[in-house]
Amino acid sequence: MLVRAFLDIIFPPLCHGCRAHVPGKGEIPLCAGCWDRIAPIASPLCPVCGAPFITEHGNDHPCGPCLTERPPFAGARSAVEFHGMVQELVHRFKYGGKMYLARTLGLLAARALSGFARDTAPECIIPVPLHTRRLRERGFNQSQLLGRILAERWSLPLSVNNLRRARWTEPQVGLSVSDRERNVRGAFTVAHPERIREKRVLLVDDVYTTGSTVAECARTLARAGAKEVSVVTVARAVP
Ligand SMILES: [Zn+2]
Ligand SMILES: [Zn+2]
Repeated sequence: MLVRAFLDIIFPPLCHGCRAHVPGKGEIPLCAGCWDRIAPIASPLCPVCGAPFITEHGNDHPCGPCLTERPPFAGARSAVEFHGMVQELVHRFKYGGKMYLARTLGLLAARALSGFARDTAPECIIPVPLHTRRLRERGFNQSQLLGRILAERWSLPLSVNNLRRARWTEPQVGLSVSDRERNVRGAFTVAHPERIREKRVLLVDDVYTTGSTVAECARTLARAGAKEVSVVTVARAVP
């Protein structure tokens, strides 16, 4: 603690959003202005896929798409909306190689979604895997780094080598919902089904866009014997 206080004097913590000095000792290094640019996702929302409703009041209720076809996961939640400040942070993290942002983004999720994690009572955390080619290009798996923060905060084991991406897939960006589904179909495998058999699993990803990737992962895990799959992501694309 003393070392930390000393370091704070020599190197005052800078806001990860705008590089301004951050007064105080917040665990998440963001200034008040940058916090204001982050939109938390709150009720009313769909208890299945986690999509927020535009109305500010009312109870949670299943959304149209989830009523029509139930997703292969029990529930999904995201901490914040994917735009503005959060979009910038995620891009700098994933494509700019700023690995230290894993902690900032991971803590955002850990804070906002601890109630969901408690309610779903998972027995392990599994990050959405990257294909080895993508892993070599990027140097790290962003979901694994986020999963590590969540595992530490929620005292859960992190399983990083069981769910694997067996097939190369093109990036989902710019694809329609049905093309996204087709793109990831059959892309994942479970190397050791016995490790997840009859277990409640929590999948972790950085951004929930249409949910195609986490849905395919959840389907793969369920087929391999998982009892229940829930999903958390830091951010969610909200139309
Ligand atoms: Zn700032
Ligand atoms: Zn829904």
